[in-house]
Amino acid sequence: MKVLKFGGTSVGSVNAMNQVIKIVLEAATQEPIIVVSSAMSGVTDQLIHIAQLASKSDESYKQLIHKLEEKHFATVKELIDVKNQSNILSCIKKYINEIEIFCEGISMLQELSARSLDRIQSYGELISTKILYAKLSLLDKFPVQWIDSRTLIKTDHQFGVAKVDYELSTPLMESYFTNNVYQIYVVPGFIASTKENITTTLGRGGSDLTGAIYAKCIQASSLEIWTDVSGMMTADPRIVSTVKPINRISYHEALELSHFGAKIIYPPTIQPVMSMGIPVWIKNTFSPKDEGTLIENESTNTEIVRGISSVKDICLLNLEGPAMLGIPGFSKRLFGCLADENISVILITQSSSEYSICVAIHKKDSKKAKVKIDHEFHLEIRDQKINPLIVENNLAIIALVGEKMKSHPGISGKLFSALGKNGINVRAIAQGSSEKNISTVISEDDIRKAVNVLHEAFFDSTKKQLNVFVIGVGNVGSKLLEQFKQQEAYLLKNQNLQINVVGLANSKQVLIDEQGIDIEDWKALLLASPKNNVHYFVQEIIHKNLRNSVFVDITANADVASVYNKLLEKSIAIVACNKIACSRGYEEYKNLKKLTREFNTSFLFETNVGAGLPIIGTLNDLLKSGDKIHSIKAVLSGTLNYVFNTYDASVPFADVVKKAQDEGYTEPDPRLDLGGTDVMRKILILARESGQQIEMNEIENNGFLPASCFEGSVADFYKELRKHESHFKDIYEKAKKENCKLKFVASFEFGKAKVQLEHVSADSPFYHLYGKDNLVLFHTKRYYEQPLVIKGAGAGADVTASGIFADIIRAVKN
Ligand code: ADP
Ligand code: ASP
Ligand code: MG
Repeated sequence: MKVLKFGGTSVGSVNAMNQVIKIVLEAATQEPIIVVSSAMSGVTDQLIHIAQLASKSDESYKQLIHKLEEKHFATVKELIDVKNQSNILSCIKKYINEIEIFCEGISMLQELSARSLDRIQSYGELISTKILYAKLSLLDKFPVQWIDSRTLIKTDHQFGVAKVDYELSTPLMESYFTNNVYQIYVVPGFIASTKENITTTLGRGGSDLTGAIYAKCIQASSLEIWTDVSGMMTADPRIVSTVKPINRISYHEALELSHFGAKIIYPPTIQPVMSMGIPVWIKNTFSPKDEGTLIENESTNTEIVRGISSVKDICLLNLEGPAMLGIPGFSKRLFGCLADENISVILITQSSSEYSICVAIHKKDSKKAKVKIDHEFHLEIRDQKINPLIVENNLAIIALVGEKMKSHPGISGKLFSALGKNGINVRAIAQGSSEKNISTVISEDDIRKAVNVLHEAFFDSTKKQLNVFVIGVGNVGSKLLEQFKQQEAYLLKNQNLQINVVGLANSKQVLIDEQGIDIEDWKALLLASPKNNVHYFVQEIIHKNLRNSVFVDITANADVASVYNKLLEKSIAIVACNKIACSRGYEEYKNLKKLTREFNTSFLFETNVGAGLPIIGTLNDLLKSGDKIHSIKAVLSGTLNYVFNTYDASVPFADVVKKAQDEGYTEPDPRLDLGGTDVMRKILILARESGQQIEMNEIENNGFLPASCFEGSVADFYKELRKHESHFKDIYEKAKKENCKLKFVASFEFGKAKVQLEHVSADSPFYHLYGKDNLVLFHTKRYYEQPLVIKGAGAGADVTASGIFADIIRAVKN
């Protein structure tokens, strides 16, 4: 014989019930079967709600009973021929009447005991199984019988979570099944009774256990749990979208996963079948051909980590104190308190010094625990030997499960590094001595992120998802989005990376979509988004709490630069094209670097200097490998280079500058380039990255613009340039006379930085620098004869966007 258990969704609709009938008929062709069923999905919750309303004399419960009746009636009317409906409809009516009578009593007394609640809840399974039985009988394919599980399964008196008495139940079952010869037995799950025949229930989700009890008592060949997913998955499919089915798993592993929250199987189900070595299959009612999961004695699978599960609504109890070591029987007393109050302990950690002990329990038990424990230790607390119990709420447990973890080093390391990299704080850790499971206690707000991060680390090694938030979608921003689209397939194939653009913002609007913004259509989507500012954007990024989050700043805005600290504190990586944060006060720059280290994240700004050229990265690599910077000399302004490469006094200087602006090389106010500020910022950043504590006002700027050019608007500036044409002509002619070219050179040497327009002769590496190219010379301890040279396009939306792109990828690969 074998046992097939169908869950709430498997009997949740007429369609589902028809599926069940098909599966049952097929199975019954092989051997006699016991069909255990849950109530239709949602019914147990509704019955509890009805009983609670009744206990408050809230008359609306009557309406809900009526709805329940209608739901079942409607199912029958669709499932069964009209001429055969009357028996089953009157059976349901009889049950509904009983619910009404009980609820009236509850309402009058305004009292709902656990015992009454069990009685009310029992109707869900009674009705659903009667419907299945009616349908199977009418089909008349096999001899079918309905049995009330309360006559065969006997329990203690713990209403709500009754414990099975096998000594009583086994003989009842043996005698029943040896004296009957039906091919299909239909039985309600979840319900049982005491030896006085008072109805009990086995705990929420308990129909799985009913299946296991029947399987054990009749020594079934197997137990099949039919549900709405194709087996036990590597994580909860409602949390992780890329879960994979686990084809084979051991009883112990399945037990650990379910104990730590994998709802797919009710944890007490495992013990009875494990004790008899009965194999358990988890199958999908809606896709019966899928392999599903086989739970058996020894899993033949070689995978190290089998699954990840999580439990929420957890609290930590922390008992500590200076004199704990001297208190005899201390742990025994603590656990005695919890046992007395019937509180189950989910996880324990104790420091090896035994100065403190930390226990995780369900939140619902925290008040009881606090009162009991503080009372138990009141004398020690009074004498200040220990502190009153500390209760920490809003926590969750994440468990990594796998029997083979014990023989593999590095699993915990990988676990903590993945959590740490994503700013998930671990409050407590427990690793069972059997090492089947490593559990960590984290904040409840981090569950989704943590499970996804770990799933990615242990199961999705083929794919890592980056969640990107871009602020500033002008020239460079648009190019970046374009590049994301172009590189999508390549990245996935070659780097196992998937870029999910979750947020886009400009100075007016903010667009957020956790599922990923359609990049093809981003302009229209952003335009249609509500007005909002950077603070809202940041708040949403933090609130979303997504794994591998990267904030990309492609603005030149000071307010945006001021939010970096908030994001770094949440371990959100920052990629900035915006130079402001790194070139304002040294303290700010230093603090951002410190936060980056402290919160184990990335702050990358390669495009601050030389657009996409690998200047900062190279400098960092030199220093990391022990080199020492002697001097840096560089032409770092694409704009100035363009202007002085183009200007030959044949057309006015103002026109050349205007052309540079029209080509998109300059900052919105070209004076930032022409006046040298932009170059000063760049050499400042290079100097700081070389380890120098330096401020903007310490940089010498021998500018070439007449002072009057800095007054007024951009339009005024152009007028001034025209007035001073002879000044520029003069500069040009002087250089020409010496056979030199004009280059705006930044240098850093002996701790001092300087920017100025220089005459460069044909023997200088700067001489042959054309268009908007940049060139940097690093003289270092290693590169002392010939400098290390980096040269290439130092401006332009395309190269800048690709530099930002590279930083984004570096940020999550670090
Ligand atoms: P039933 O009503 O059939 O007993 P449940 O709702 O109790 O079904 O359990 C099945 C559900 O468990 C799935 O729909 C899924 O959302 C959830 N679940 C949680 N963790 C896991 C997991 N690791 N593998 C599969 N399902 C899981
Ligand atoms: N119907 C019960 C519940 O919802 C038992 C079960 O479905 O397993 O908890
Ligand atoms: Mg279930």
